[in-house]
Amino acid sequence: MLQHNLFSNGHFLLKSKSHYRISSVLRRLASYDQHESPTLPHLTHANPVLTLTDIIPSACQIVIAGGGIIGQSVAYHLSEYGAKDIVLLEKAKLASGSTWQSAGQGMHIQNTLIQTYFTKYSRELYKKLHDQGHDVGFSEKGGLWIAQTADRLHTLKRQYAIIKALDIDCELLNIDKIKERLPFINSHEIWGGLLIKDDFMVDPVPLALAFAKLAIDKGVKIIEDCAVTEILTEKQRAGQYDRITSVVTSQGPIKCDIFINCTGLWARELGYRSSPGVRIPTQACEYICLKTKPIANFPKRMPIVHNPDERFYLQPLANDAVLVGGFLRESKPIYKQGTFGKARWFNIVKREYNACRKGVAIIDMTSFTKYELKSANRSVVDFLQMLCANNIDKPIGSVIHTGMLNEQGGYENDCSVIRLDQY
Ligand SMILES: Cc1cc2nc3c(=O)[nH]c(=O)nc-3n(C[C@H](O)[C@H](O)[C@H](O)COP(=O)(O)OP(=O)(O)OC[C@H]3O[C@@H](n4cnc5c(N)ncnc54)[C@H](O)[C@@H]3O)c2cc1C
Repeated sequence: MLQHNLFSNGHFLLKSKSHYRISSVLRRLASYDQHESPTLPHLTHANPVLTLTDIIPSACQIVIAGGGIIGQSVAYHLSEYGAKDIVLLEKAKLASGSTWQSAGQGMHIQNTLIQTYFTKYSRELYKKLHDQGHDVGFSEKGGLWIAQTADRLHTLKRQYAIIKALDIDCELLNIDKIKERLPFINSHEIWGGLLIKDDFMVDPVPLALAFAKLAIDKGVKIIEDCAVTEILTEKQRAGQYDRITSVVTSQGPIKCDIFINCTGLWARELGYRSSPGVRIPTQACEYICLKTKPIANFPKRMPIVHNPDERFYLQPLANDAVLVGGFLRESKPIYKQGTFGKARWFNIVKREYNACRKGVAIIDMTSFTKYELKSANRSVVDFLQMLCANNIDKPIGSVIHTGMLNEQGGYENDCSVIRLDQY
């Protein structure tokens, strides 16, 4: 076992002096502990003391690959829910991947509702860890989304309605209220904003390592400097998925029943190293950030400010500095072009599409439920226009594929509307 204490100046106290252990710690010092994170100030929050394992077992039930925040969180949650015999393998040092670079913002405005639920759950969990005395850098800064156009304000109002319904503390602000929080803002072209008081910040490395510590306390074995190089499977009966039998690692094979790939931006590459290969649809993109020096008279109540129209954010840091992060209009993938190809069925569907488009198609719709709607005047057209997302007021004979929506604009079903007559 390797046990190390991390002091705030970034040095380790070794409990063992074997050559392997010293060299492993030196390499850790040469990774994230010695270098300033590109986003957060260095070592503001102390990392917990971890008891790692240095001999890999020959067998276990669950292997997790990747010791970033996701792998460590999965290890924590599985052990919390009673799973046993778990081994987490990290090819370098825990939290030395994207997690080390993260700005640590927790934002409730997300692309999908499930991601918003994840943020809400994460907030409750991180607050609980903070209240239990884990130094994870949890702070309730809030997030302020600025609208520079009427359309953006409209979008923010919709997002307000969605997250308010989930009981997330938020408020729409006019320009005067924005200025109260951001006295330095140039109000020119600001249409309004959305303040999400529940948005928060954490320090990602201590947070990830807190998960590791709690998982280790429940019996999870965590091994650094051990890369998973291949995932081996066994054929099952026809119609069933292949079964995982073992993983090959840089330190030897481990038999296991379950394998979980938590290797972040390396996940795609590792997916292809299982037999048969698994295609994981992830793509990392370029991102730009700069950190200012500490600023005199820094506004103490400044939330994290997002400007989606200009694609940048301003994040107040613990040392009165500001982190400015930005996204390119056309995001640049870090993998070469062609990595994301068209699906294998693309050309088959293309031929079918062209045949329908240029010729005559016969579609078997016997299994579909059919309704015939008529009215004496235009009311049936107006009614369907209100119900359908697509424009159904098309010439007689048209077939329109459309979604049907409920009162909140939510998606209820998709269907085909055929215009048989004027009304
Ligand atoms: C600059 C920057 C700022 C960000 N800011 C935010 C933010 O404010 N809020 C937010 O929510 N997210 C933010 N993110 C995104 C966030 O950091 C990542 O989504 C998150 O850290 C991903 O965690 P992970 O565990 O999946 O990946 P990682 O932290 O990259 O961990 C993957 C681990 O897998 C290991 N590994 C790879 N291959 C193997 C293998 N074959 N065997 C064993 N181990 C392997 C790697 O060494 C690595 O440690 C930011 C990202 C960056 C880069």
